[in-house]
Amino acid sequence: MKIRWTAAVALAALTAVTFAGCGGSGSASATDKIKKAGKVVMTTNAEFEPFEYKDGDEITGIDIEISQAIADKLGVKLEISDIAFDSLIPSLNAGKADFIAAGMTATEDRRKNVDFSEAYFNASQAIIVTVDSEIASRTDLNGKIVGVQQGTTGDSYCTNEDGSSDVQVGEVKRYPKGMDAVSDLIAGRLDAVVIDNFPAEKLVGKNADTIKKLDEALTEEEYAIALPKGSDLTDTVNETIKELNESGKMDEIVSKYISAE
Ligand code: GLN
Repeated sequence: MKIRWTAAVALAALTAVTFAGCGGSGSASATDKIKKAGKVVMTTNAEFEPFEYKDGDEITGIDIEISQAIADKLGVKLEISDIAFDSLIPSLNAGKADFIAAGMTATEDRRKNVDFSEAYFNASQAIIVTVDSEIASRTDLNGKIVGVQQGTTGDSYCTNEDGSSDVQVGEVKRYPKGMDAVSDLIAGRLDAVVIDNFPAEKLVGKNADTIKKLDEALTEEEYAIALPKGSDLTDTVNETIKELNESGKMDEIVSKYISAE
C-alpha cells in the first residue's frame, strides 16, 4: 500500500515537472538551454551590408553588434550561422538557431511562423537603376524586368501576389544575393533592382559610376529580431534593444556603419 502511494506521488510529481517544462508552444526554456550550452546561435544571411556582411573572414555589421549585446546579456558566446535568406525561418523553426538577426522586416505573414522582438530599425524598399536609365519613379517599373533578393519584402513588393501594389512589374528575377542582382543590372540583363534602402546605398556606393538609387521609398518597414514562437528569449532580446536605445549605444552602433549625410 505504502509503496503504491509513493509511486503515485512520484508519477504526479514527474508529470508536473514535465508540463512545467513545456510551457508555451516553444521549447522548454530556450534561455536555460542557451546558458547550459554556453552559447547562443544567431542565424543570418551575411550579404546585406551594413547590417551583416563579410569583411575578410569576419562577419560584421549592425545586426552582429546587436546580437553580441544579446549574447553578453545572457553571459554566453555568440555563434553565427550564415545561410540563404529564404532558409532563415525554416532553419529557426527546425531548432538550428535561437534567433534571426538579418535586417528582417516584421511582416504579418512571417508572424504566422515566428515571434518578433520590438522593432529596432526603420527601413523601406528602394529602386536601383543604371545612371542613364529612363526609370525615374516606381510606376516606371511597370512592364520592366526587375531583380530582387529571393524571399525578401522586395520580392513580395515586386511579385505583388496580394495585389496591394500599384506597380505591375513585367518580370521578377530572384537572386540569392542583392549583389548578384546588381551585377545583372550592370550587365544589362535587368531594368532595375528593388532592395532595402541602406543596402541599396552600399551597393550603389561601390558602383557609383554605373548605377544610382532613386529617392522614392516604396514601402515602410521595421526590422526586428525573429524568434521561435513562444521562446522565452524574446524578453531578453527586447530588454537588450531597450537598453541599447536608452544608453545611446544603438545610435553609436548604427553610425559606425551608416554615415549621416
Ligand atoms: N528587409 C527585407 C526582408 O525582410 C530584406 C532582408 C534581407 O535581405 N536580409 O525581407
